[in-house]
Amino acid sequence: MPAAFFNYSIINALWGEKDEIAQGLWYDRFMKLFDTHCHLLDARYNEDRDAVLARMRAAGVLLALEACTELDDIPGLLALVRETEGLYGSIGVHPHYASSWDAAAAQTVDGALGGEKIIALGEVGLDYHYDFSARDVQRACFAEQLEIAAARGLPVLIHNREAHGDVMDILRAHRKGLRGVMHCFSGSYETARDCVDLGLYIAFGGSMTFKNAVNLRDAAKRLPLERILLETDCPYMAPTPLRGQRNEPAYMAQYTLGVLAEVRGMDAEEVADRVWGNSLALIS
Ligand SMILES: [Zn+2]
Ligand SMILES: [Zn+2]
Repeated sequence: MPAAFFNYSIINALWGEKDEIAQGLWYDRFMKLFDTHCHLLDARYNEDRDAVLARMRAAGVLLALEACTELDDIPGLLALVRETEGLYGSIGVHPHYASSWDAAAAQTVDGALGGEKIIALGEVGLDYHYDFSARDVQRACFAEQLEIAAARGLPVLIHNREAHGDVMDILRAHRKGLRGVMHCFSGSYETARDCVDLGLYIAFGGSMTFKNAVNLRDAAKRLPLERILLETDCPYMAPTPLRGQRNEPAYMAQYTLGVLAEVRGMDAEEVADRVWGNSLALIS
């Protein structure tokens, strides 16, 4: 069934029943997708956020997880997810902002994790490409937030850029109670396997569609399908043929899903169905 089959008014009518949606009770006949990592709070959506959300739902992206990057995001993120049907939130400090991490920040994050519709911790991790915070500070910020997530039993959204060895060392040291997803995965099949061995999910975004992303498509082809998720990381990482433009959740249904289906040799509807089930398992 093409995504265009979706009738926005039907979906809109369903929104009042979100408890039943969460239980997956009655819309199995539609293609449904979960954008497991987005930044819809970004100022680039200030002019047309409602239209972006309407296109998201019309494309079948019924649920999305808004990722936090810095402490200053928290009040706006809590408000956005509270007022937006289908949008859930995660709270955490991104490695770019690790220099803001201290005991007070830990308390702020922990408190916000108790907020309405907050279902994950993140995004957290290491970014050795930009090195906006000192590496030892990034490592401490990451490790301490993994402990908070484990204590709360929450999944973690993990950011890894050019830091695979240290990310894996920290994850292995904190594997007790570890659940989560390697977001915007950009490595090889072998690195993905290391993460799956830790019980993690692998989320593919628009970068999987890029012409030169041969390794990434190879990983997406060979990994167990039950470990694969989709995401946008919007406004970043718009898929081909929109690379470089502002990304949005609808593009995941329109472009990224098709590439995943192609490498798996499956129908888009079937892949969507399986990935939807994986997404619910991540957050349940
Ligand atoms: Zn990230
Ligand atoms: Zn992100």
